[in-house]
Amino acid sequence: MADKGVKNGRRKALKLMFRDIGLAGLGGIVWGATATKLKASELTLRPPGALLEEDFLKACIRCGNCVEACPYDTLKLADIDDHASAGSPFFIPRTTPCYMCPDVPCIPACPSGALDAATIPKEESHEKKAIPDVEKARMGIAVIDQESCLAYWGIQCDACYRACPLMGEAITLEMKRNERTGKHALLEPVVHRDVCTGCGMCEHACVTEKAAIFVLPRAVATGMVGKHYIKGWEREDERRLKELKDKKEKTSKPEDILNNWESLFGDD
Ligand code: SF4
Ligand code: SF4
Ligand code: SF4
Repeated sequence: MADKGVKNGRRKALKLMFRDIGLAGLGGIVWGATATKLKASELTLRPPGALLEEDFLKACIRCGNCVEACPYDTLKLADIDDHASAGSPFFIPRTTPCYMCPDVPCIPACPSGALDAATIPKEESHEKKAIPDVEKARMGIAVIDQESCLAYWGIQCDACYRACPLMGEAITLEMKRNERTGKHALLEPVVHRDVCTGCGMCEHACVTEKAAIFVLPRAVATGMVGKHYIKGWEREDERRLKELKDKKEKTSKPEDILNNWESLFGDD
C-alpha cells in the first residue's frame, strides 16, 4: 500500500492534470467549446475491460478488488476530492501507466461485471480460458500536442514511440521535410486510434515537462459524425443507407406522397 504522502502527491497530480487539460486547451486538436464544457470526471481513465462510463459507474460496487489485483500499483480508488466518482478505480498514466498484463488480472478480480472480459476480444491461443487480448483493450486514446512535442519542432525524440508496447502499430514515425530549415527531416510520431489501447506508456515516457502526448478517454478524444452521414463506399454504411430508405418509405406522410406525386406516378 502506498504511503499517505505518495497518495497525496498523486491526488495533487490528478488535480493538476485535470486543471491543465481543462483550461490550457489541447494544441493541435480543435476542441472548440467542448474542452470548456468538460467536467474533470469525464477525463477519468478506467481499467481495461471497463463498461461505458455510465454503465461502469452503475455496476462498480467500489470494492477495490481490481486495485488489489493490479501488480503494478497502476490502479487507485478515487478519494472524495479526486474528481472521479468516490471509491471508483482509475489510473493516471503520467504517474503509473497500465502495463497491459497478458493475463489482465484486474478483470477476473471484478465481482460485479463493471470490468467485463466480454468487452475485449479474446486472444486466440487463450480462447478456451476466455482471457481477453489486452492488446485489444480500449482504455483511451493517446493524443499529441504538436506545439509541445519536440519531434514536431525538429528535435530528435522518439521516447513515446519506443515506450509503446504496440510500437509501429499504435504509434508510427512519419518522415517529413523540415520546412523551417529546408534541409532536415522531421520524424513525427502519429497515433493510430484503431490500435491504441490507451495504456499511457507513451505519456509516462514523454520527456517534456508536461507530457506532449497524453491519454484521453475515447468518448472525449473522438468526434461523433452523426448517423445521417453515410460513407457510400463502405458495406456497413450501404446497409444503413438501405435501412434509412426503407424506414423513410414506410413513414412517409400523406403530404410527402402528394409532393412526390409526379415521381411516383409520372405526370399524366
Ligand atoms: S492490465 Fe495489469 S497493469 Fe493494467 S490495470 Fe490491469 S492489472 Fe493493472
Ligand atoms: S473490482 Fe469491479 S466492482 Fe470492484 S472496484 Fe474494481 S471495477 Fe469496481
Ligand atoms: S497509449 Fe501510447 S503507448 Fe499505449 S498503445 Fe496508445 S500510443 Fe501506444
